[in-house]
Amino acid sequence: MQFDIRTLLVAVTLATAFCAGARILLWRMHRGIPGVGQWAWAGVLGVPALILIAASDAMPQMLSLSLAQILIATGIVLAWDGFRRFIGRAALSPLTLGLLAMGVLSPLAIAHIGQSLTMRAALNALVIALISALIARELLFAAKSGQSAMRATGWLYAFNAAFFLVRAIIAIARGDEPVGQLNPDGFAAVALLWWLCMTVAVTLGMVLMTGERLQRVLDRQASRDPLTGALNRRAFSVVAEKVVAHARRNGQPLSVLMMDLDHFKLVNDHFGHGGGDDVLCRFVAAADRVLRGEDVFCRFGGEEFVALLSGSSADRAQAVAERLRAVYAEEAATAADVAHPPPFTFSVSVGVAELRAGEGIDSAIRRADKALYQAKAMGRNRCELADDGLGAAATV
Ligand code: GH3
Ligand code: MG
Ligand code: MG
Repeated sequence: MQFDIRTLLVAVTLATAFCAGARILLWRMHRGIPGVGQWAWAGVLGVPALILIAASDAMPQMLSLSLAQILIATGIVLAWDGFRRFIGRAALSPLTLGLLAMGVLSPLAIAHIGQSLTMRAALNALVIALISALIARELLFAAKSGQSAMRATGWLYAFNAAFFLVRAIIAIARGDEPVGQLNPDGFAAVALLWWLCMTVAVTLGMVLMTGERLQRVLDRQASRDPLTGALNRRAFSVVAEKVVAHARRNGQPLSVLMMDLDHFKLVNDHFGHGGGDDVLCRFVAAADRVLRGEDVFCRFGGEEFVALLSGSSADRAQAVAERLRAVYAEEAATAADVAHPPPFTFSVSVGVAELRAGEGIDSAIRRADKALYQAKAMGRNRCELADDGLGAAATV
């Protein structure tokens, strides 16, 4: 099939301009997301690059194509920088940028001196292949489960790297071509179509990656307590149902810990509300250290917390609670002002209940709560077992 290069150039330039517009809009809508601004600039640079390619008949061809190449290389470096920032990595350092600039400009100068379009094309393709491979690596390593747009965009860049590597090999294999035509080896049409597909697909990838990011933020906001980052009650009840069903299916024990920080009013009075917040976060950090990955931990409200310990009988749960009491006392004490030590110790009271056969999670939580009240009544800073340890003998 024969493509008319001029028509293709007009179509690709228009599509690139629309994609640049979409990226600018994305940037304006999400200025707080790192990297989106670099994506926008990367998209914008594509437009003058294509105009320079189209103008290569009207001006010295080596000059117009070299300028276009500099814009394209800058654009892909900017995109790389944007992807790095987006996934939380450091921006490209001035040293890397300097090396990249040398990597783009020195081969260009060599191609200029040799007046070789083929050398220019091959070196250009190699630079794009290299940076595309780096972007692909960055995105494919960063993509976690549920981030399929990031993974797909990573694969797009991997294909781009392969495409331009093949392009470089073909250009080198064909040998030198003189300056004069825009499309010396018939590759321009294929390259323009590839450009069209990549620009549209990558812009779509960026939009979807931003959507994915926002979705994660929303999911987190809906399921986490903003102060401590622990699960909130709503998310807890959803996870708890699954954990209970899993325990029942596998005939495993499951225990509930209800925790309430002791004399928290005193903590607030002594340290102020901000200091109290810090102590709450330290309790969550202590729980994080003591509990296992499969345990479910939630801020039930105020200074009350609940944990579900999968595979744990009441005895083991009690041992976990004792360790948590010790670790919390240690964690919170480091927050205290050594010069003005508080007139109290940091402590937590805990109620433990093991889920009984056929019992719902709400009932087990109520029993653990009763045990917690008992712990409070018995002087606080202790752990009490629900229903005289009946849970320990029961099977799920
Ligand atoms: P007890 O040993 O009986 O549990 O005494 P307490 O003072 O801990 O219990 P009480 O329920 O009387 O008071 C709880 C306090 O926790 C009151 C409330 O201001 C404080 N609190 C609840 N949520 C937060 C919070 O998010 N940050 C801070 N700093 N304090 C909070
Ligand atoms: Mg309370
Ligand atoms: Mg309390």
